[in-house]
Amino acid sequence: MFTRSTNSPQETAALAARVAEKLPAGTVLCFEGDLGAGKTLFVQNLAKALGVKGEVTSPTFNLMNIYEDGELPLVHFDLYRLESESELDEIGFYEYSYAPDGLVLIEWADKFPDNLPEDYILLKIERGNGEDERQLTFSARGDAEAVLKELEKSC
Ligand code: ADP
Ligand code: MG
Repeated sequence: MFTRSTNSPQETAALAARVAEKLPAGTVLCFEGDLGAGKTLFVQNLAKALGVKGEVTSPTFNLMNIYEDGELPLVHFDLYRLESESELDEIGFYEYSYAPDGLVLIEWADKFPDNLPEDYILLKIERGNGEDERQLTFSARGDAEAVLKELEKSC
């Protein structure tokens, strides 16, 4: 586990770009953090760093977006509005969260801890004292330690 602090959206964006470079295909990145923590901002900048051209929007209402014009296909979920586990099946969560050739990014993953893929990087974003201060804590679940080590080295 390791933590990085940022003091502006720009610093978080720069961190997301460095993370993007180090995630091998097949990685799942799960986000935990309150509304306004910076989960979507992180995803937007990760996508940009991977060459996604179009606008990356928050999938709060449509639950999932897929971006296929970057270096890797990106699947972006936001589980905020889901109320029960059974809805995961309905939105195709199990199907689309298995993307060995792409990256899977899941906001509000901690709502369904028992239904996540086995191996993933967990990124917890917390507010600090100042308005624009954030603490980003990265940890590995399952077999994701090697990826975590690479992230720690370059972030
Ligand atoms: P979430 O998806 O977690 O609900 P968003 O990414 O949509 O949050 O929004 C984060 C908001 O917080 C943005 O308005 C962003 O400008 C602001 N912000 C302020 N400081 C930071 C920071 N250090 N890192 C990320 N976002 C920040
Ligand atoms: Mg969001």
